[in-house]
Amino acid sequence: MEVNQLIINSLTPFSTIDFPNRLAAVLFCQGCTWRCGYCHNPHLLTRQTGTSLSWKEIEIFLQSRQNLLDAVVFSGGEPTLQNGLLSGVQRIKQLGFKVGLHTAGIRPNHLLKVLPELDWVGFDIKAPVADYAKITGSQNSGHNALKSAHYLLDSGVDYEFRTTIHPLFFDEQKLLELATQLAKLGVKRYLLQSCRTTHCLDKTLSTAPRKNEWQTEQFLQKIRAILPVVKVNI
Ligand code: SF4
Repeated sequence: MEVNQLIINSLTPFSTIDFPNRLAAVLFCQGCTWRCGYCHNPHLLTRQTGTSLSWKEIEIFLQSRQNLLDAVVFSGGEPTLQNGLLSGVQRIKQLGFKVGLHTAGIRPNHLLKVLPELDWVGFDIKAPVADYAKITGSQNSGHNALKSAHYLLDSGVDYEFRTTIHPLFFDEQKLLELATQLAKLGVKRYLLQSCRTTHCLDKTLSTAPRKNEWQTEQFLQKIRAILPVVKVNI
């Protein structure tokens, strides 16, 4: 699949938070088949976009940053839904950058093909497997995410699993259940982050009361007893 068929909505020229310990540019891929109510990039969900960047524009920008950036991250939307992803990753490597991927594991078999070319993956793990559909609106989403998580962990590629916590989907018990599932999978690096409630796809989630019991040190110690390396973004 040609790199020119990749639909990139937009680009962040400089980021210190999208690939740990690397200065990175971020490419936002258009399209996602899930509909998480808390999605804060609703404009990236449809396949069609009013504006997009051509691959030529992206390469011209990246060539001008070759000694200034370490890495490029494919984010979205869901990058693995685009068949041109592998070509895009390979072109970025040829330009001399490390390559990161943000994924929710929506398309396991495509992730498997791309993994050997990647340097780091931020894996959005949404909930215990049985609770996925409530968040994503997609029936097989938990199954696909689990399969992708196995592929990632088996690949040896560096990673961080991340969970976005909206109080309507998580209480302490649910978080402990998820941490236990991740520990059984063999996850070693994990990030918990508060849901940003501005610009949620489901507007009712924007107004839901914020309950932050999970942020107490006492509760985080319970999580760390299950998964030792846990970072927190409040
Ligand atoms: S998987 Fe990600 S991009 Fe897709 S709807 Fe959910 S939060 Fe949005």
